[in-house]
Amino acid sequence: MNVDQTVKSYYEQILQRNAGEPEFHQAVAEVLESLKHVLQKNDHYSKDGLIERMCEPERQIIFRVPWVDDKGQVQVNRGFRVQFNSVLGPYKGGLRFHPSVNLGIIKFLGFEQIFKNSLTGLPIGGGKGGSDFDPKGKSDHEVMRFCQSFMTELNRHIGDKVDVPAGDIGVGGREIGYLFGQYRRMNNRHESGVLTGKGLQWGGSLVRTEATGFGTVYFTQEMMNAGGERLDGARVIVSGSGNVAIYAIQKAQELGATVVGFSDSSGYVSTPDGVDVELLRDVKENRRERVATYAKEANDAEFHENGNIWEIEADVALPCATQNELDGESAKLLADNGVKFVAEGANMPCTPEAVEVFRKRKIHFAPGKAANAGGVATSALEMQQNASRDSWTFEYTDKRLKGIMRNIYRACADTAAEYDVEGDYVAGANIAGFRKVADAMLAQGVI
Ligand code: NDP
Repeated sequence: MNVDQTVKSYYEQILQRNAGEPEFHQAVAEVLESLKHVLQKNDHYSKDGLIERMCEPERQIIFRVPWVDDKGQVQVNRGFRVQFNSVLGPYKGGLRFHPSVNLGIIKFLGFEQIFKNSLTGLPIGGGKGGSDFDPKGKSDHEVMRFCQSFMTELNRHIGDKVDVPAGDIGVGGREIGYLFGQYRRMNNRHESGVLTGKGLQWGGSLVRTEATGFGTVYFTQEMMNAGGERLDGARVIVSGSGNVAIYAIQKAQELGATVVGFSDSSGYVSTPDGVDVELLRDVKENRRERVATYAKEANDAEFHENGNIWEIEADVALPCATQNELDGESAKLLADNGVKFVAEGANMPCTPEAVEVFRKRKIHFAPGKAANAGGVATSALEMQQNASRDSWTFEYTDKRLKGIMRNIYRACADTAAEYDVEGDYVAGANIAGFRKVADAMLAQGVI
């Protein structure tokens, strides 16, 4: 069989064995496409069922999460933890609480996480979890009761040397606090390294909150410099207004860019003169309100209900909300409006059609598993601080993050060049991430 046929047969098996999981199919298809370059050159990666094993989670846990709401009614949600690959270290990856969560979404995120974590150069495996619970509109006590019930089951599957969850969509500092409290109570252990994204007083790391957004901007800066351009003075669109988006906006503006728009699922806000980050943080993090409130309270900001944020004119686009939020049509709009650089702060926000448009229109494109790896990398730095009972300064931790993002950029660029696809950061990220995991799996035998 030639490489095309081999890859096709891997993909057909994925479709057959994982029916009804389109996001997982999409994530695997993208990686397999890149692996054609590797399998052509290094045929030992086709042996020992390596690719088949890599696409099959080591363990998938699905559980009932019953809880009582403020009216005394019993609610039932579904919890997930997919422990995908632990060849490089304990499973590591966030928890997502969003009504759209299902097994296929958690598997796509867990699969991406394997290669992302490998790219960080730190000893962490890949996993992901979450629930179809929607924290929006729930009281703090409802969120707490849900988190306690969720952890009552999850607790038996995690540990600082086993599996270390963190936040993702719908899971921020508040939720991590309730989850950690329940874990501590059930195990009678103050095991700091079991979760990351903790509060600073109880084992959290400085920079973890900012890390994904900051890291995405550091990666973007590297990519722009290599393309002969500067972030300083550029106009940047950032979709979303959650954890990743807020700190991407902050860092982009600190480095001299103007952020001309951001969004949530109700629409977007155009901000031609830049974003007031303090106000945005107050609206979103303290008051837990929508972006329309920001537009009401800010100077020079306009809310576009149900509008498409990708219609704003800019130089750089950072999708930081959710998967498949930027499609082929929006990608054409971006290209027509002069965008030259796109970096994914979210996981898989660009559809395959959008990525194809970027390729054709020569837009520099950084995939999420490279560009947003700063979050999990800083989680691994939090684990290091917990293991040594130490806490580092903001400046030192940020310097480590910057160094990691620079190394990830170099790994993507150099690997793409090595496989004769210079500038293709998708192939570079997938291949560089894959090789380390693959070599370790081959060394550790068929398990
Ligand atoms: P948050 O919950 O803090 O924010 C999510 C943001 O995305 C909100 O503005 C939300 O708007 C918007 N959003 C979510 N779903 C949709 C949707 N279906 N349509 C439109 N907008 C939507 O999550 P994070 O910022 O933590 O995560 C954002 C992305 O970054 C995700 O893809 C996540 O997997 C990825 N990521 C996060 C990391 C982290 O450290 N937090 C690390 C690496 C990747 P609304 O409030 O209206 O729902």
